[in-house]
Amino acid sequence: MPGLTPGRRFQPAYFSFGTRSVPERLVAFVERRTKGLLFGCRMCGNCLLQETAFICPMECPKGLRNGPCGGSTPEGCYVDPTRPCIWHRIYERAERLGRTGLLMEVQPPLDWSRVGHDTWVEVIQRVRTRGIGTAASALFSGRETRQRFWGDFFRGIRQPDWWQGDDLPHPAAPHEPVSGLERKLAAGEFVVTAEVAPPLSVSPERLVASLDVMREVIDAANFTDSPSATPRMSSLACSVIALAHGVEPVLQIAARDRTRMALQADILGAAALGVRNVLCITGDHPIVGPSPHGRMDIWDVDAIQMLWLLRRMRDDGHYLDGREIKNRPALFLGAAASPSASTPRIQALRELKKSHAGAQFFQSNVVFDVDAFERYLATLERAGVLAATPFLAGVTPLRSAKMAKAMAGVPGVKVPPRVIERLEASAEPEKEGLQIALEVIEKVRRLPGVRGIHVMAVGWESIVPRLVRESGLRGTPSPAPVSPPVAAASVPDHHAPVDH
Ligand code: SF4
Repeated sequence: MPGLTPGRRFQPAYFSFGTRSVPERLVAFVERRTKGLLFGCRMCGNCLLQETAFICPMECPKGLRNGPCGGSTPEGCYVDPTRPCIWHRIYERAERLGRTGLLMEVQPPLDWSRVGHDTWVEVIQRVRTRGIGTAASALFSGRETRQRFWGDFFRGIRQPDWWQGDDLPHPAAPHEPVSGLERKLAAGEFVVTAEVAPPLSVSPERLVASLDVMREVIDAANFTDSPSATPRMSSLACSVIALAHGVEPVLQIAARDRTRMALQADILGAAALGVRNVLCITGDHPIVGPSPHGRMDIWDVDAIQMLWLLRRMRDDGHYLDGREIKNRPALFLGAAASPSASTPRIQALRELKKSHAGAQFFQSNVVFDVDAFERYLATLERAGVLAATPFLAGVTPLRSAKMAKAMAGVPGVKVPPRVIERLEASAEPEKEGLQIALEVIEKVRRLPGVRGIHVMAVGWESIVPRLVRESGLRGTPSPAPVSPPVAAASVPDHHAPVDH
């Protein structure tokens, strides 16, 4: 059992591609045995132990390298409840060691050509380049000099030229708003967005019907990207259909389903088709979806890396590999916020990191407990997130106690028992669910920093106009919808919004 990691488990190590010399293999073997025994090291070849409080982040089943996902809790990892969320442990130890600042730096995705390789030889070579005497004296000098020298030393290893991540804010380069949503937020308007579940077949009729009923009361519609790790029509196809029907789309992209190549290709295609708003999410783990399960242990890029990458494609005009993009994509980049995940303190750091990396707006996971949400918002406010990035609070109208219970089991969602009790006691649970959602909107819309409401009706899109109007977010009822209202409960209850 690895001695110095709270994960307390061995996981299979990565092996390198291609042939390597005998000395190289020997060093890698010794490093694998030593660091494996101490830290549960998986030989990713892109070592971050220095930055992650000496706990290997590759113990995270998603292989996340920039902080916890939206389903993390202090109790454990939702993918494998027998282990702790390793990112929780990293933050806790970093706080004890005074090293949380290092966690704010945006770390690159793995360079897979280095996977399975040792990192010791590179460290030794760099020490020799800098001078063994200089390195030794830095080791035994005062705390400040020591930290400066070694911080700079390891930064050169973890931040290759093709990435150059840092912990600084990177607001968008000066530009005119590229979408209606961006224009309204820039003008200080209170916005309404709504999530639409993409169809389970090639027929767009239900989707179009949902768009027709919502068109007049929302500023943009989100299309989830295979939520709950269950395939549906692609978010991009839905976005294009929405554009054709006069509704501004928010394209959701789950990192789970994209290699870095697919991500860059998809985003250029989406921009060429007129999609401007893009929500970058990590994505639910395949374990929550139907079997047979896909690859369980690694994401090629995470949501923060997506934001960093897409912002640079837009503002700097180059691909990850450095090639120039002649006609850059015009993008309004969003990120998911998770009020009920981990702890407000940790989430505030994570949301701040997203904001720094390039997020221009947040859409939050669903809020039921307004008091807890208020505490979470206060930590975001103190961290400076709300001043930098508009925040839209997520609201879901519940249709039944059964649905509420199903949502309570969704990672990253908390449903207070009193909400379930109200639905159970009601003779008309849909009416009660609507009332609960109205009460939540009434409270959260007045909280400082909330710049809009994001409705996640989970297959009950036909209720959105009523919810928006009765909450006073939009004016008087407009003429009857173009298409008949969408049939209720088109999506099973367990398909709750859980994009992390
Ligand atoms: S809860 Fe999420 S971030 Fe934490 S270890 Fe599990 S998959 Fe990784």
